[in-house]
Amino acid sequence: LQRDQLFLEYQPIVDIASGEYAGLEALLRWQHPVRGRLLPQDFIRVANDSGLIGNIGQWVVNRACAQIAEFTAQGIILPPVAVNVSPKQFQFSNMSADILEKVAKYNIAPGKLSIEITEELLLDHNQEVHDQLETLQSGGIGISIDDFGTGYSSLQYLRDLPATRLKIDQTFTRSALTDSFARASVEISVRLAKEMGLKIVAEGVETVEMWNFLQDLGIDEAQGYLMAKPMAPDAFLT
Ligand code: C2E
Ligand code: MG
Ligand code: MG
Repeated sequence: LQRDQLFLEYQPIVDIASGEYAGLEALLRWQHPVRGRLLPQDFIRVANDSGLIGNIGQWVVNRACAQIAEFTAQGIILPPVAVNVSPKQFQFSNMSADILEKVAKYNIAPGKLSIEITEELLLDHNQEVHDQLETLQSGGIGISIDDFGTGYSSLQYLRDLPATRLKIDQTFTRSALTDSFARASVEISVRLAKEMGLKIVAEGVETVEMWNFLQDLGIDEAQGYLMAKPMAPDAFLT
């Protein structure tokens, strides 16, 4: 963070019906001078355990907002950008205030930024977290529940949660065509999302067969290497 070695890549999320970009997910990378380009799996856990995720997370939100502002200034219309927010970040600071402050600082239309949270955040049914999410949603910031199906959260609690999207975890998507349990998990997630009025997103879409399967199930949006890998912001200029 101090040596300015972190950067963001952006991966498109595609609307299955229209084929257009529905959003971009900002994904954190670390350009290490010796070890090369590191992925979140190599350092997010340490950042969480050490508490550094607080500062890193603020950097991520700031960088994404700055990027949106840069593109807007160049007349490039971006779909909404989603940033991942670790549950820990809600402990270190008032996340909702931080995010709304950055959105105001860069003069960004609130609908242009959204956050992705994991079910882990919802596990202790914390009212304070719930209130922060509500503040964000009323401020126009979209909220996606990431890695859905892997975090043991209560469905009852999920029902009352301010959220806009449900993202099915890749482990289910990836094996849905070969494993009946994974397939049932995807189908149930779709039904739940529709019932809750949420958009449903599938991650890890790598094949045309998978795309067709998801389309038949009525999934709204898809993200995966089939459409695009995470890319440097410059890639969106062409
Ligand atoms: P995630 O939020 O579920 O992000 C999706 C991950 O799936 C990304 O991995 C992306 O590169 C990968 N992916 C997308 N499409 C495909 C595909 O078709 N096949 C395969 N095999 N993988 C695909 P990435 O970038 O390594 O990020 C891993 C996780 O790290 C993220 O999972 C997220 O939980 C976390 N993360 C990333 N950026 C941040 C951040 O800024 N802050 C925090 N707190 N966590 C972050
Ligand atoms: Mg995510
Ligand atoms: Mg995910």
